Amino acid sequence: MSAAFDARVRAALGNPLLKIAIDRTTGTARTKRAAAMAAWPEFAEARVLGRDIKDHVIAHLDHYLIEFERNALASGARVHWARTGQEACDIVVKICQDAGARSVTRAKSMLGEEIGLPHALADAGIERVETDLAEHIIQLAGDPPSHIVWPALHKTREQVAALFRAHHTDPGAMETVEQMVASARRVLREKFMAADVGISGANFLVADTGAICTVTNEGNAELTTTPPRVHIVTAGIEKLVPTTSHAMALLRLLVRSATGAELTQYTTFHCGPKQSGDRDGPAEFHIVLVDAGRTKMLDDGLAEMLRCLRCGACLNHCVVYRQIGGHAYGATYPGPMGSVLTPALTNLADSVDLPRACTLNGQCEEVCPVAIPLPTLLRGWRDRSWREGLEPVPLRAGMRLWRFMVQRPALNRIGTNMALLAMRLFARRGWIRSMPLAGGWTAHRDFPAPQGPSFLTQIRSRGKQ
Ligand code: SF4
Repeated sequence: MSAAFDARVRAALGNPLLKIAIDRTTGTARTKRAAAMAAWPEFAEARVLGRDIKDHVIAHLDHYLIEFERNALASGARVHWARTGQEACDIVVKICQDAGARSVTRAKSMLGEEIGLPHALADAGIERVETDLAEHIIQLAGDPPSHIVWPALHKTREQVAALFRAHHTDPGAMETVEQMVASARRVLREKFMAADVGISGANFLVADTGAICTVTNEGNAELTTTPPRVHIVTAGIEKLVPTTSHAMALLRLLVRSATGAELTQYTTFHCGPKQSGDRDGPAEFHIVLVDAGRTKMLDDGLAEMLRCLRCGACLNHCVVYRQIGGHAYGATYPGPMGSVLTPALTNLADSVDLPRACTLNGQCEEVCPVAIPLPTLLRGWRDRSWREGLEPVPLRAGMRLWRFMVQRPALNRIGTNMALLAMRLFARRGWIRSMPLAGGWTAHRDFPAPQGPSFLTQIRSRGKQ
């Protein structure tokens, strides 16, 4: 484990408030998801359908991208292509500058975080106002998101109240969640109406209409995209679906897996700029289609990861995420999906700790609404890390020694019996509290002393009976 990852994990494990915050939110999410699935007997079929829709689109990305662009242009939208995150940021900043924007509102988008859009806007001197309630909280706190659906999951209610008291001009009473929401509403309402540009992500890009679909529970995407003169959408190219009915099929999976609800409060299809006769809407509608490593994932055997709907269910069920939270991962995308995505979107050498931080218990794959084989993909990264020589030298040497031994049964037997003997020497009342070469285990937990002879010895003695 790298020193930086180790330090982040230790800081997270040593923070009791963080554990309370994680347990509250992920516990509720798991309970609600389980209830939603129990009430939906067609889940297994819907999951196969969802997987097949995504696989079909990914196999025909070139076709659907061209169809989407053609229909988006026909609706009056302007379509931009970005090969990298930097290109996408440059395009967005240029559109804002051309529009003379001094302030932009933004609806939550993990892609924006991935490509570094908040920094790009700040560098260009453009005020950015996050409008999702949780994003508003972490913007005030100066934190990055810690969950892909609940970015402020690491904050307790009491911490949020303190933040609002410190930053809102007219905070009012802060005793209840309703009072906190009302305070945020007062602050954000003014910003919605004053913004020159609204920036959103997209949950789906609908190829046969050129529309983009956003889902929120607060209506902030609608208020971000409708009042300003200019609406900019940034979306990864894997968000394509052939038709609106395909989007609806995936939406049923996404929402139940994320929040346990049947549908989000707001599901909006945005199609082109304001037309004559429309009462509102932006005069300019820009769509920035972002690759940023996605087509390379196809070459790297990670096509299945492009199915991801960003529902967050794998995070809520992950035993590692639920102990350390999102910030410890040190990446935009935490949890199981992040541990697969981060090495693909950045590089393996800098993120090799993430695929290792997994027990491979398979819960993430079980709950994934599009059946992404996350443990298999994580094992693939570990395999590649081994082939590229990224494991520490002592570990590589240890694994080689182990391979040498297990290929020689007599030697393996002698080595195992010696190890058993040594372990018994360190045991006190059935437990080992410390032992040379095992400090990593015994620093946090006692190790059970071996009970009786080795497995192989027991098998051999049974064979003789
Ligand atoms: S990998 Fe699956 S469970 Fe995890 S966020 Fe993506 S769609 Fe949801």
